[in-house]
This record gives sequence, C-alpha cells and structure tokens, in this order.
Amino acid sequence: MSETIYDVIIIGGGPAGLTAGLYTSRAMLKTLLIERMIMGGQVMTTTKVENYPGFPGGIDGPDLMLKFQEHCQEFGLEVTTGEVEGLVDNGEVKTLTVDGKEVQARSVIITTGAEPSKLGVDGEDPFVGRGVSYCATCDGAFFRNVEVAIIGGGDTAAEEALFLTRFASKVYLIHRRDQLRATKILQDRIKSNDKIEILWNTVIEKVNGDNTGMTSVALKNRKSDETRELPLAGMFVAIGVTPKAHFLTEVLDLNDDGYILTDAECRTSMPGVFAAGDVRKKILKQIATAVGDGAVAAIMAEKYLEGFIE
Ligand code: NAP
Repeated sequence: MSETIYDVIIIGGGPAGLTAGLYTSRAMLKTLLIERMIMGGQVMTTTKVENYPGFPGGIDGPDLMLKFQEHCQEFGLEVTTGEVEGLVDNGEVKTLTVDGKEVQARSVIITTGAEPSKLGVDGEDPFVGRGVSYCATCDGAFFRNVEVAIIGGGDTAAEEALFLTRFASKVYLIHRRDQLRATKILQDRIKSNDKIEILWNTVIEKVNGDNTGMTSVALKNRKSDETRELPLAGMFVAIGVTPKAHFLTEVLDLNDDGYILTDAECRTSMPGVFAAGDVRKKILKQIATAVGDGAVAAIMAEKYLEGFIE
C-alpha cells in the first residue's frame, strides 16, 4: 500500500472527473485522478461538440478534452492509469483497490461515466469489430462506399448517422418506434440527408455473417410483424449507455439501472464519497452537466474535509 493518504481521489478522467480535479487541485487539496484507459471519456469518441458554451462553430471532442487536461496540469493535478476494483469505507479514510494495489484517500469522487449499451441479439457479440461497432467516430472510416446501419433514435444515433454519410454509400437509421428522441435540429438534418433512410418501428432480431464478417441483419417490423433480411457491411449500435458502477454494487446505493444515487449535492450513500457526471442518476447527461457536477462534487469534498458537512 502507498504511504500517501490523498485528500481526494477521483475515479475517471472524463469532463466530470477533470473538472473535479481542476477544482480540488486549484484548492490545494492533494488529489489523485485515476483513469482506466484514455483521458477524456466518451467525448473522445465525439466528432463535433456544438452545444458546449464558449466554442462557436463547435469543437472536436478530443480537442476539447485536451484543453480540459491542459487546464488541470496548470494546477498540478496528479494523474495515474489503473482500474479501480473496490472501495472500502474505513471511516475517515477510504481504501481503493487499483489493479490489485491499495491507495487511500479521505474523500472520493466517482466519475466513471457510462459505456455504450449492447442490443443483446444473436450474432451481435461474434461480429464486434467485424462489422458491429459502438462508435461511428472511431470505426466509420472503415466503411467506405458500402451500406451500413445505425441503431437508435436519440441524439447519438442521429449524429452518428450524419457522420457515417461521409463514408458509406447509404445509411439506414433503424429505430424501434415511429418517433425519434433526437433534438429537432438533428432530426431535420437527418431527414433532409439523401443518404439516410429511416426504418421506423423496426428492430434487429439477428446479425448474420460469415468468416469475412457481418453480412446482413434480420429485421422485424413491430407494427406489421413483417420480417426481412437487409444486407449490411456494418452496424453501429447507439441505443444509450450503461453506467460503469458495477464495482460499487455492494458498497453504494444504486438504482435498478445501475446508476449511483446521490442528492443534488452529488453526495452518495457513503459519507465522504461523491458521484458526478453520467454515472449518477440524473435527468440530463451532457458535457455541460457533467462539468457542473464535477464542480459541485469537488466543493462538497472540500467542505467534507473541512468538517462542514458529514
Ligand atoms: P438516448 O437519448 O437514451 O437514446 C437511445 C435511443 O436508443 C432511443 O431512441 C431508444 O429508443 C433507443 N433504444 C434504447 N434501447 C434500445 C433497444 N434495446 N433496442 C432498440 N433501440 C433502443 O441515448 P443517446 O442518444 O446516447 O443520448 C444520451 C444522452 O446524451 C442524451 O441526453 C442526449 O441528449 C445526449 N447527447 C447529446 C448530444 C448533443 O447534444 N450533441 C449528442 C449525443 C448525446 P426509444 O426512443 O424508443 O426509447
């Protein structure tokens, strides 16, 4: 076990975690931010962020996250790579297990975010990376001049459908209902794009393929019960996200969908432990709200360390 007892350990390096890190390191609290893979979180897979204030004309997700990191470095935030596997409350000190080793802190901010949900249909898993993808920004360029589909009706599906039209000859947007959840501006853009065809009330029942990768999907219309096979070179699943809080099931209160339950001040059921961003149960999951959460959680951690709150 490391001898250092940090004031704050932040788990996760997306917008919420980096904002919390900016605030706590600027407040001279001894902070360690632990990131599992690459800093920046889900925003790293976003092409253009158009609704984060201060960047007229939009900014590429990775560029925005680089600015967040540079800003934290100005205040000397300590960062390390590792996967947090457990959290134990020893009263004033919390112990985290990171890749089998223990680190300690007097307060913890969880900002682990969420990961893309799977459809859970036959043939999905075997063709991941061979036609099935959860990130158009990452994999879209592999699908030039072929027909692909995006599954989902939210903002992510709409944005990714538009992005895929840069490469694919045709993009099917396959949605289970007759109404999109995406914001109107995105709906207008996809409906006026000649390369995009929306298949309403339609679900994927199976992904088919051979040793070259996926070749088609079996579709079912939920209204007419009609089934058919649609040849596709690629399928991008954009049906929302699952929170990354499974390692906390035994120690914190989570809701049925696995989100961490907090109060409005980002306090969890364990004193001194806060949750911010997409991993906590809340109405709106945006970069702007993750940033707001990160700031709140950092200030609350500071108050906790000073003994102003329990
Ligand atoms: P979302 O808004 O939850 O949309 C998920 C979509 O997937 C919905 O259309 C849903 O259908 C569909 N779906 C869910 N489970 C399904 C299943 N098992 N089979 C088939 N379809 C399924 O998720 P999101 O688009 O990833 O967005 C998440 C949050 O991030 C939202 O708050 C969104 O506004 C925000 N976001 C914002 C931007 C932006 O502003 N630029 C970009 C991306 C994301 P139903 O509609 O029938 O439920």
